Amino acid sequence: MTAPKPEQLLKELRFQLTVTRAMLGTLDLDQVLFIILSGITHGGGLNFNRAFLFLADEAGRELRASTAVGPTSKEEAHRIWEAMEEQNLDLNQLLSRYEDGGAAGLHGLSKQLLGFSVPMNATAPPHGDEDDVPIHALVARSAQQKESFFSNELKAIYQPPTTAGGESLQFSHLAVVPLLRDETVLGVILVDNHYNKRAVEKEEMRGLHTLGNMAAIAIEKAHLHQRLKEMAALDGLTGVFNRRHYEMRLEQEIARAKRAGRSLSLAFFDIDHFKSCNDNHGHECGDKVLKDLAGVLERRVRAEDLVARYGGEEFVVLLTGGATEEEAAKVTEKLRAEVESMAMGDRPAGEVTVSGGVATLQASELEAGQLFRLADKALYKAKQGGRNRVEVATT
Ligand code: GH3
Ligand code: MG
Ligand code: MG
Repeated sequence: MTAPKPEQLLKELRFQLTVTRAMLGTLDLDQVLFIILSGITHGGGLNFNRAFLFLADEAGRELRASTAVGPTSKEEAHRIWEAMEEQNLDLNQLLSRYEDGGAAGLHGLSKQLLGFSVPMNATAPPHGDEDDVPIHALVARSAQQKESFFSNELKAIYQPPTTAGGESLQFSHLAVVPLLRDETVLGVILVDNHYNKRAVEKEEMRGLHTLGNMAAIAIEKAHLHQRLKEMAALDGLTGVFNRRHYEMRLEQEIARAKRAGRSLSLAFFDIDHFKSCNDNHGHECGDKVLKDLAGVLERRVRAEDLVARYGGEEFVVLLTGGATEEEAAKVTEKLRAEVESMAMGDRPAGEVTVSGGVATLQASELEAGQLFRLADKALYKAKQGGRNRVEVATT
């Protein structure tokens, strides 16, 4: 590769500094991605017509279209460039526009690719200078080989599934760059100059790589932040939500139920004679029982219901489906019976049982403290009544 000109290097450095500064200022992944793609397309940056980002899912099985920046048509491309020149918008100003909801028209392109995903192991035949190569082949190949590439001859196409409707997208004068962190593919960036047909130069790949590295760091940072947030909401032993998260969600669910005019039900469970379980079989066995109980509760309720460990051997299940008092009682009883029928920890079926109290409040009377007091009172009654049973709260 020939040595880059000093002024070119200086421009690249200035541009990278601007994007880095903008990226460091936010933890919001969408915003970071927008910043990076804006840097790629802005005249003061890498000056590509369009930039598309595909993000790997957590399991690393597929790449999903995530963010795209650029005009949706040649006419729009001209309008945006003219507006940029007229207003003399520099990169900093463009980035700050994100705060105001993004520059006009920039999000149209993202919508066009909405829902598009590429299996990481999609067959991607080697390509020469062909026409109408499906973009999923280009994206998959770059991810599989962990290599970037560019071509000014190849023409690619995105054909939306017929069921989704929407228009196809053409790509030309393009480059593809994988986003790597320690050999893991976090995503792929695809850029092109489809509107002005400016040839992609080999030297431009350097700037793309630098931005690709920054994007990978930003994505990793955002993932870690997300993981930390999730971990802070979970109980360390059982993996279900903790009390703090439950209390926050309870307020949200109450607000939602009130808006929708729906009831909310709370089932409160407590393991029977758990102290003797610990005393007789050891604390480790007790821990296993807690894990298994959490697992049963979580598997047996609907995805939109919330299971949390309220305290030591107490669990709450928030039923958000607007059940009647009778239906909520049935669900709670079903859960109790399920626990009784199963081996928990290394104890045989029937040995570990729970008592449950369940309360249902209508939208108009919903209040967190009251819902909890009622369920707690019902639970107390179940304990008094002999345990391994469910009581329904009476208001
Ligand atoms: P009851 O039927 O009246 O509920 O009797 P109980 O023995 O379950 O009630 P109690 O509240 O006296 O005992 C709760 C026990 O739960 C005591 C405590 O050691 C145990 N426990 C609390 N957290 C944990 C935990 O994380 N692991 C284990 N193994 N035991 C725990
Ligand atoms: Mg207890
Ligand atoms: Mg107990």
